[in-house]
Amino acid sequence: MSSADNRGTTFGLRIALWYATLFVLGSMAIVFVTYYLTSLSLAQRDRQIIDAKLGEYTSAYARGGVEGLAETVRAEQQTAPERLFVRIITRRSDAVVLSNPDGWDPNRLETAQLRLPDGTVVQVGKSTEARDDLLARFRAALGLVTLTIVFVALTGGWLATQTALSPIRRLTLAVRRIIRTGRTDQRVPAAGTGDALDELTVLFNAMLDRIEGLVSAMRGSLDNVSHDLRTPLTRLRGAAEMALAAPPDLDRYREALADCVEESDRVLVMLNTLMDISEAESGAMQLQREPVPLTEVVTRAVDLYHDVAEAKGVTLVPEVSDTSEVSDTSGTATVSGDRTRLEQVAANLIDNAVKYTPSGGRVDVTIRREQDRAILEVRDTGIGIPADEVPRIWDRLFRGDTSRTERGLGLGLSLVKAIVEAHGGTVSVSSAVGKGSVFSVSLPASSL
Ligand code: ADP
Repeated sequence: MSSADNRGTTFGLRIALWYATLFVLGSMAIVFVTYYLTSLSLAQRDRQIIDAKLGEYTSAYARGGVEGLAETVRAEQQTAPERLFVRIITRRSDAVVLSNPDGWDPNRLETAQLRLPDGTVVQVGKSTEARDDLLARFRAALGLVTLTIVFVALTGGWLATQTALSPIRRLTLAVRRIIRTGRTDQRVPAAGTGDALDELTVLFNAMLDRIEGLVSAMRGSLDNVSHDLRTPLTRLRGAAEMALAAPPDLDRYREALADCVEESDRVLVMLNTLMDISEAESGAMQLQREPVPLTEVVTRAVDLYHDVAEAKGVTLVPEVSDTSEVSDTSGTATVSGDRTRLEQVAANLIDNAVKYTPSGGRVDVTIRREQDRAILEVRDTGIGIPADEVPRIWDRLFRGDTSRTERGLGLGLSLVKAIVEAHGGTVSVSSAVGKGSVFSVSLPASSL
């Protein structure tokens, strides 16, 4: 048995002992009270019998004097001789013992006496033997009962704690197995009782699901990164190799070096973006916060893509172009954030919208304020996103099947999401294939 098992057993034993002690103490209290009350009522009954007898003797004396009394006692002794001891002491102090003279032992008798008007003392005693016998038998029975109670309390306590601790033991086993094997696909069977321990088990399994999801996402990212790094690096190596293999030629060298620079830039951009995403997600990203009107952010991003959109035949319409309108409707959409990062957000969304919208399409960028949120919306009439891809577009290095012909690393939306969430905001998308998509960013607005 390992030390953890030992701990579980000691814990169970401790609870069982506590339970048994309380149970036994409670039961003992009941047993003692019962015994006490029984012996009390037996004594009381004896006393009542004696008192009644004395009453009878008083009236016998009243009827026939000492002689009459002696007659009554004698008659009684004949019918039920064993029941009572009677002693009559006359005034001249000679004891006239009328019954059981040998058995008169005040230590084993419950006695009472009565002085008659002529000075005669009548004593009546009742043997406590029968009562003591009864109580002794009662004590023996109670002893047995007590033993049974202790036994029941100990086994009951032990069984109860074992049952109560078994879900915890199952959890411990599962955790230990996971630690030993490193496999997070193990689950703890829930008892389905719906109690606190069952809930803990369910939560524990849910936590394992989550960890498994995160680990496999990380593995997936790592695979994707390795895969995506291989292409530019292979090309880089190919360009250098070909230039070296050919006869020396300055122009060819230049061209090869230019290719190398281009490919290494690609790699660098990818690595930098990946690091930015990680920083933003982990909260380590340094945000140079300042009040930033979203209109300014959008104006810059739209400026950046104006030419690209025009060349592609896509109409890029920012709602911010009319300054008077800006101050009326969206002037309050100011957020406390990092200007450069927010520009990256807008630029990435507009870049995607233009990229995935065929010629003749349209991209609208709007800003508005909704209570305490500043909303940035980029709407396009492009190719749209298939429903099964929607949940994955925010994953690192994910690229839609139909998007592979376009340039891109599959990191734009991951960065957008990470930056927006680092600012305390949320991003969402609604999209219809062939009709277009709407990306919406909601950020906490600065108070007015
Ligand atoms: P990429 O470099 O491929 O654009 P992103 O992370 O920016 O990477 O986007 C991930 C995927 O989401 C894209 O490959 C594309 O399939 C889809 N996507 C993003 N924006 C749009 C859009 N405006 N319209 C259609 N599909 C989009």
